[in-house]
Amino acid sequence: MNGENNRKRIAIFGSTGSIGTQALEVIASNPDLFSAEVLTAQNNDELLVEQALKFQPNIVVIGDESKYQKVKLALNTTDVKVFAGEKALEEVAALDCYDLMLAAIVGFAGLRPTLQAIDNGKAIALANKETLVVAGDIVMQRAVEKRVPIIPVDSEHSAIFQCLVGETRNRIEKIILTASGGPFLGKKPNFLVNVKRDHALQHPNWSMGAKISIDSATLMNKGLEMIEARWLFNLLPDQVQVVVHPQSIIHSMVQFEDGSIKAQMGLPDMKLPIQYAMAFPQRIPNDFPRYDFRKPNTLTFEEPDLKTFRNLALSIDALRKGGNLPCVMNAANELAVFAFLRNRIGFLDMTDLIERTMDKIPFIENPTLEDYYESDAEARQYAASLIHL
Ligand code: NDP
Repeated sequence: MNGENNRKRIAIFGSTGSIGTQALEVIASNPDLFSAEVLTAQNNDELLVEQALKFQPNIVVIGDESKYQKVKLALNTTDVKVFAGEKALEEVAALDCYDLMLAAIVGFAGLRPTLQAIDNGKAIALANKETLVVAGDIVMQRAVEKRVPIIPVDSEHSAIFQCLVGETRNRIEKIILTASGGPFLGKKPNFLVNVKRDHALQHPNWSMGAKISIDSATLMNKGLEMIEARWLFNLLPDQVQVVVHPQSIIHSMVQFEDGSIKAQMGLPDMKLPIQYAMAFPQRIPNDFPRYDFRKPNTLTFEEPDLKTFRNLALSIDALRKGGNLPCVMNAANELAVFAFLRNRIGFLDMTDLIERTMDKIPFIENPTLEDYYESDAEARQYAASLIHL
């Protein structure tokens, strides 16, 4: 905490994204509780500058070094310090000017700054699920060694985390991750083969960044979440189950060894898990819309269609086999989504690309951090070569 006024000083890595901008809304609504100390963006210098002028952070980082002068000039009448480049993200993550990192960078790029923050003893509010998919064993081990809390922001994991408060001594039988099913629930391959970018970006319940929207449409997002959950809650692969719940009201559930099931519910709004992670262990009031049980509502549940949405089946395979396979899968998926968003490959081609990459890259049972970095690079290179990127 900042001694002066007891506000929690938040470093938002990825402040210009969907999670980052919503986190800033939470900070703006609770100026007595939080301050924005660090803001970072990759390309979006204009929004970063706008955010910096409004929130007056200590530091901003722009990933794209060619935009350094522009950002510096725009902020030269303020006290905001400006840094640029990938290395600066790690260096700033290692500083002592903040209390909690909101890890909201998308993809593998979030791993290094988050590890740096953990090594520096900073609490983490984790939105960047890829960090745990790629190197969950190492990240969680370091967090334990440094006694750093990792508080999930992903709505499903926040739900489980909330269900587990007060249950530290009780054994989990399994966790049940709910999935909306995405925009193509019930569709078959003959439909999916023609799906285009703009359609896939339309999620029925959540408004999110482009990459996670595509991951939701392919159900890869749920696969990544299964792996994320395994590490966050120290579970065996078979203790993580997925059920499709199209209304997204139950955000996930925990079943204990006595068969009792706890669920966390609410309207789908990412500001709630973001706020919860930032304020934890407190709950703070807000005026977000409430779920009303008196209105006619039907909550439904069904099994995911693993034959059609094969990315989820591939993820379950990666979850079970472990080693560097989730890291390889994640890298191939990032590349596949990148190519799909640029109309370079079709919707179903993404799965083929991921599967071929998972088959090709040598399996490492107990990878080091270096092995993860290398597996990521190899997988990207191989996947790119398959589609001539
Ligand atoms: P967005 O794409 O909206 O935002 C990503 C942020 O990361 C932006 O600030 C972006 O900067 C920055 N960024 C992108 N690439 C890099 C890079 N190579 N190096 C450094 N910074 C980079 O993503 P979301 O906010 O949707 O998602 C962020 C993370 O949170 C993801 O891991 C996602 O899976 C997870 N998540 C998101 C949810 C949501 O509702 N959006 C829900 C649950 C989890 P710039 O704007 O300049 O490109």
